Amino acid sequence: MKFIFLIADGMGDWPHQAFDGKTALEAAHTPFMDSIAKQGIMGTCQTVPQGMEPGSDVANMALLGFAPQKYHTGRGPIEAAAQGLNLDENDLVWRCNLVSVSDFSQTGVMQDYSAGHIATEQAADLIALLQRELGTPQTAFYTGVQYRHLLVQKGGADKGYANLRVRPPHDILEQSLAPDFGAMREMPDFFELVRAASKVLARPENSTAANSIWPWGQGRPLLLPNFFQTFGLRGAVVSAVDLVRGLGRAAGMEILEVEGVTGLIDTNYDGKVRAALDFLEHGDFVYLHVEAPDECGHMGSPDLKKRAIELFDERVVAPVFQALGEQAVIVMTCDHFTPLQERTHTSDPVPFAVCGPGIVPDSGTALSEKNAGVSGLALEAGAELLPYVLQTARS
Ligand SMILES: [Zn+2]
Repeated sequence: MKFIFLIADGMGDWPHQAFDGKTALEAAHTPFMDSIAKQGIMGTCQTVPQGMEPGSDVANMALLGFAPQKYHTGRGPIEAAAQGLNLDENDLVWRCNLVSVSDFSQTGVMQDYSAGHIATEQAADLIALLQRELGTPQTAFYTGVQYRHLLVQKGGADKGYANLRVRPPHDILEQSLAPDFGAMREMPDFFELVRAASKVLARPENSTAANSIWPWGQGRPLLLPNFFQTFGLRGAVVSAVDLVRGLGRAAGMEILEVEGVTGLIDTNYDGKVRAALDFLEHGDFVYLHVEAPDECGHMGSPDLKKRAIELFDERVVAPVFQALGEQAVIVMTCDHFTPLQERTHTSDPVPFAVCGPGIVPDSGTALSEKNAGVSGLALEAGAELLPYVLQTARS
C-alpha cells in the first residue's frame, strides 16, 4: 500500500468577517480536498501537545508519527539536521532569523520576522559576513534558506544559554523587543553577540531589510527513530522549508529535491507533485508539505490565504488525486492553524481527511474545520494519525 500525506501548512483558521463568518478553507473553492473528505473519513487531531509551543516543528514532527513530548529539542536542531551539520550532543543550536526591527533598543519593535522575505543569495552574503566578523571556535553561523539560518554554540547546551526564553519573531510582530532583550541579557555575552550582529548589519554595504539577527528555538541536536524501522515504510519528504527536511533526514527518510520551491505562493507545485509521484513508484510513503497558506496567514491577508488554499487544491491535491486515485491512501491535513486575525499559530486541533483503499466513507461533507470537528473522530495526539491511518487502511 502507498501513502501520501498532503500538508497545507497553517491552513486551519477561524471564522473571518472577510468571508462572512466562514473560514478561509470554507470560503475557498477546493473540489479535490472535498472529494477526499466525501470519499473517505474526516476527523481532527491535536498536533500540538498541551504545554508546547504551536510551532511547525512540533506539529510536523507529530504528523510524521513522532511524539514531540519525547523527541522535540527545539526548532534550531531540526533545521541543523536538514543541513546535515556535524554536532556534538552538548552543542546548542539556535534558529537564527534575519529580521527587521524598528531599532535595536529597548523601545524597538519587531517589524518583520523575514527581513522582507530576503532571498537566500543575499542572506548567504550576510551570514558569511557575520561569521567572518563574529565567528569563534565556540560560536558559528550557518546559512540556511531565505531568512532562516542557524547559530551554533559549541558546548552551549550545558550552560545557561539553553534556558534563555527568546520568543519566536513571527509571534511578536509590532511588539516590543524589551522582554526578549531581558531574556538575552541573562547571558550578557550572548546579548553582546546579538548587538554586535546588528552593528555589522548596519554597515552601508548591506542594502537588504535585514538589520538584526534573532536567535530563538534553541536546543540539543535532534535524534529521531528511523522511519522505516518504526513504520515499515520507505518514506520521503518534499518541502521548501528546512525544518520539514530536517525531520525527514533525522528519521532516515529520503529528501526529494525540487527546483524552484520557495515556501511562498509562487512555489513549484508541479515539481513537488512530480517528485512525490516518482518516489511512490518504488517507495511507500511521501510527506508533501507546502508552506504558502501559513505565510499568507502570517501576512493577515484573507484573499491571499484563500488563494493559497485554492492553489494547493488545484496544483497539488488534484494531480495527486487523479494520478493515484484508488491505488493509494491520501491524507489531507495541515500542521496547525494560522488564524488570519491572530497572524500567528494556535494550538487548535487540526482537521484531516483520509481516503483510499480500506477507508470506508462516512462523512459525505466537504473538508472544513467545522465538519471535521463534528465527525466524532478526534485523535488526542498528532502522532496517532499515521498509525491510525496505517491500521485503518490495512484492516
Ligand atoms: Zn506550520
